[in-house]
Amino acid sequence: MTSPTHALPLADQHGRVARDLRVSVTDRCNLRCTYCMPAEGLPWLPKPDMLTDDELIRIVRIFVGLGVTQIRLTGGEPLLRRSIVDLVGQMAELRPRPRLALTSNGVGLDRLAGPLAQAGLDRVNISLDTVDRDEFRLLTRRDRLHDVEKGLAAAAEAGLTPVKVNAVAMRGVNDHSVADVLQWCLDRGYELRFIEQMPLDAQHSWDAEAMVTAEEIHTLLSRRFTLTPLPEEDRGSAPAERFLVDGGPETVGIIASVTRPFCRACDRTRLTADGQVRNCLFSRRETDLREPLRAGASDDELAALINGEMWVKAPGHGIGMAGFTQPDRPMSAIGG
Ligand code: SAM
Ligand code: SF4
Repeated sequence: MTSPTHALPLADQHGRVARDLRVSVTDRCNLRCTYCMPAEGLPWLPKPDMLTDDELIRIVRIFVGLGVTQIRLTGGEPLLRRSIVDLVGQMAELRPRPRLALTSNGVGLDRLAGPLAQAGLDRVNISLDTVDRDEFRLLTRRDRLHDVEKGLAAAAEAGLTPVKVNAVAMRGVNDHSVADVLQWCLDRGYELRFIEQMPLDAQHSWDAEAMVTAEEIHTLLSRRFTLTPLPEEDRGSAPAERFLVDGGPETVGIIASVTRPFCRACDRTRLTADGQVRNCLFSRRETDLREPLRAGASDDELAALINGEMWVKAPGHGIGMAGFTQPDRPMSAIGG
């Protein structure tokens, strides 16, 4: 078997090459989505454990040198990192310039969308699971729907288009209103994608039986809309199955991350806010870059650590298979 030193940068043993880096810039959050965090929050990373801006940019630069072409800033809630606009600006100066995206809950984006776009952000994905205020409050444990709406409008205004919306359907909470979310997004020109709930909550309370499957979401949407599948070739490494809505041109995506995983085409790699490289959301291992970096490691040494971590990426996440164990880190501390 070829050793990682002879392989392409960021390649793994199963023939995949990572081009898409997800960077978690903080594990903190201002919402408490029930499928993600407990009501009381989590023990946040101590400040000294987090990468400084300079450390983070240095590692991202090494990733770009290894072939990363797209960077997505996430968290926790990435807008809570005070330096977020500056980080985007510094990443926009990297060469070759990576495409820059942000995944956010949208709270505070009304203020930041303009500065982020000016700094070089190319697009945003905003998470919004319901457009009903009571459901939103139940789901996120915060009464902030109006802030998210303002954030979305500001993103469109700032030219961060197409504005994409991500939604998770929860049984008995918002599953009956998925078509309302689609209609709301269609009315405003936002591109909606549903994603199956995954076993990544801090409480470890995920239940396969309770999960609203991609197939169910399709059925629920089809009661109000005609969905026509777009050809598979249009999908590439993108995980969403996309459908024209009522003949198009608008589309809706459904990501069957659990029931029809896209691991074979996965091109992702991840960096946590405390400087760990992860080759998969569901990995039970990670490689520390922070301590070697602080101990004076060279760029080549850090690149070798990154390549070593990617090389051992598992062929698939294995949810539902014997031996699957949920990772200790929740989604909010990995970077979704
Ligand atoms: N706070 C930001 C946000 O909510 O967009 C960024 C981080 S959040 C962890 C990223 C995405 O992960 C969100 O779209 C959220 O809905 C999704 N997410 C969180 N926990 C999840 C779970 N257990 N299963 C599926 N998606 C989840
Ligand atoms: Fe916060 Fe995003 Fe998790 Fe919701 S999904 S609690 S907004 S990190």
